[in-house]
Amino acid sequence: MTLFDSPSFSNHEGVHAFFDEKTGLKAIIAVHSTARGAAVGGTRMWNYGSAAEALEDVLRLSKGMSYKNAVADLEMGGGKSVIIGDSKTQKTPELFQAFGRAVHTLGGCYYAAEDVGVSVADVAEARKVTPYVVGLSDGAWGSGDPSPVTAEGVFRSTLVVAKRLWKQDDLTGLTVAMQGVGHVGGYLADKLAKAGAKLVLTDVNQELLSEVAARTNAEVVAPDAIYDVKADIYAPCALGATLNPQTLDRISAKAVVGAANNQLATPDIGQRLFERGVVYAPDYVVNGGGIINVASELKARQTGGAYDPAWVEKKLSRLMETLEEVLDRSATEKRPTHEIADAIAEARISAALDEKTDRERLAA
Ligand code: NAD
Repeated sequence: MTLFDSPSFSNHEGVHAFFDEKTGLKAIIAVHSTARGAAVGGTRMWNYGSAAEALEDVLRLSKGMSYKNAVADLEMGGGKSVIIGDSKTQKTPELFQAFGRAVHTLGGCYYAAEDVGVSVADVAEARKVTPYVVGLSDGAWGSGDPSPVTAEGVFRSTLVVAKRLWKQDDLTGLTVAMQGVGHVGGYLADKLAKAGAKLVLTDVNQELLSEVAARTNAEVVAPDAIYDVKADIYAPCALGATLNPQTLDRISAKAVVGAANNQLATPDIGQRLFERGVVYAPDYVVNGGGIINVASELKARQTGGAYDPAWVEKKLSRLMETLEEVLDRSATEKRPTHEIADAIAEARISAALDEKTDRERLAA
């Protein structure tokens, strides 16, 4: 199979493979779209079974970033990078500097950030050789940990859905079944409890689970039992693909609002949720707070300003307007929410591409 025949190839602008003999770096950077600005997206370090598997992943994830950045109305395109290797045993500072040099060759059309297997310290190594990285923890621009902003976005999305389904401004009397109380889930649990929700929590990390449950007065269940909880809202905040043929019949919640990426195992699950009348708040709309936070860092860097919480707030409010639009259109057009979110992202990318083409034509 060639790149262009891959089912995950979707008019990507550029796909770049890098090898560094000295450090053993094997990386692929995919730039899906720069229509809305420089492509921004995380770097995943994963022990892929083959280069073909890594290529599939980076193609799929980079397109996802174009859509996520567009629905968050950020002036950023979509890209992603993967480093083939075991993040527990094969990480070295030199490897990330070699990766930074690879990013640098793209001349700023792609900015790398953290993702699975890649930490703030790794990005800081890459920063030593290129300015084209974001997600740093220090300096006037540094946006730090995105998790609290992601949690705030998921929380506000929960309120939007509660208002529509139960006509209430807070979460009093509603039960939320939360899977995962990590970086985002922990902050989210605090916010949901404060807004009156009764929480049923699970996590594979028992220590963390007990700690969050104690401070939020929550009930605790075993990891697999979370799908059977009689809850009003299911909040997946751990893994992807938890909405799948095996779990669908077990979930009785009327709404799904959570932080996890790629919650639908396949798009037809979104259709089935819609047919059952379950309100699925699309994952990449709901969890856009984190990328908004990162975008603020990039903006500060480009304009010579500082991290600006007011700008983050403005973008987060705009994201909630987009969620309202997704839910409105899903009801009037009788189409699942994930399809509407994709349509909004595609329209915004396509409009930006037209504008970019016009600008380039005028400049020529
Ligand atoms: P995290 O690793 O801090 O938290 C995930 C939690 O899920 C951990 O506590 C882990 O023990 C738990 N977990 C793992 N497997 C589980 C299982 N089978 N059952 C129950 N719990 C399990 O990650 P995070 O940063 O909180 O991110 C959570 C999700 O949100 C991820 O899918 C991530 O991709 C997505 N997300 C995060 C951000 C962000 O700002 N951190 C932004 C957008 C999307």
